Amino acid sequence: MLKGKTAVVTGGTRGIGAAICRTFAQNGADVAFLYAGNVEKAKEMEEALTALGVKAKGYRCDVADSAAVKETLSQIAKEFGPVQILVNNAGVTRDKLVMGMKDADFDDVLHTNLRGAFYMIRGLYPVFMKQKYGKIINISSVSGLIGNAGQANYSASKAGLIGLTKSVARELASRHVCCNAIAPGFVETDMTKDLAEGNQLAAQIPMGRMGKPEDIAAAALFLASEGSDYITGEVIRVDGGLAM
Ligand code: NAP
Repeated sequence: MLKGKTAVVTGGTRGIGAAICRTFAQNGADVAFLYAGNVEKAKEMEEALTALGVKAKGYRCDVADSAAVKETLSQIAKEFGPVQILVNNAGVTRDKLVMGMKDADFDDVLHTNLRGAFYMIRGLYPVFMKQKYGKIINISSVSGLIGNAGQANYSASKAGLIGLTKSVARELASRHVCCNAIAPGFVETDMTKDLAEGNQLAAQIPMGRMGKPEDIAAAALFLASEGSDYITGEVIRVDGGLAM
């Protein structure tokens, strides 16, 4: 489905990003993924993706660092050529009630989750413009749609991503570049492993279970493929009905 395409996925070493990398590679895409610091996991992921018969490489790059993103994208351009698909998935949480939230808790989350996506989109913008084609997929969250107590910073970053998505969609629609967001609910990853007991969380979800990273990857595959060519500026909830 994605044969001949190159995808860049941020946060590709674990959780949802890793599932997206695997799904894209299983469907024929070459995959360049970014990660924060987990070199061992990055090597494992590179090997797993390469074994699927595609070109794959991990790049250690803090997406919140504008200069590092620029440098990494130029490295990817040299090694992979033009990019057709960008998934802004890297994200962090620093959960606290607003009363106890420090400036750094707010800034770190906004910088990684929102600025990071902006830097990546800005870096690939000329490539998408020139080739008159591109698929940008931003991983937001239901927290960005309905809020979540203890996650003011995170929810603001994820709501911001939705505004970013719609503005980019409008700027690039005439160039056949689609920009959409996915809003996952609770998904079983490292990010959620410290949250309240799974059963308690699952009870809030109409479908009665937490999401799996593959549930989100399936939506990302759709948004990366031709079947979604007439969809832009959309937010797809993948949450078992949690935020309907
Ligand atoms: P995760 O398991 O914690 O994995 C985070 C990934 O992001 C890792 O690959 C990590 O790299 C990378 N990363 C973190 N900070 C980075 C930075 N500054 N620069 C580059 N890479 C960075 O997270 P997840 O649960 O899969 O979540 C993925 C995305 O989905 C996030 O945007 C999250 O907000 C969103 N989301 C998750 C859920 C959920 O329930 N899990 C729900 C809604 C939305 P290292 O391995 O090197 O640390």
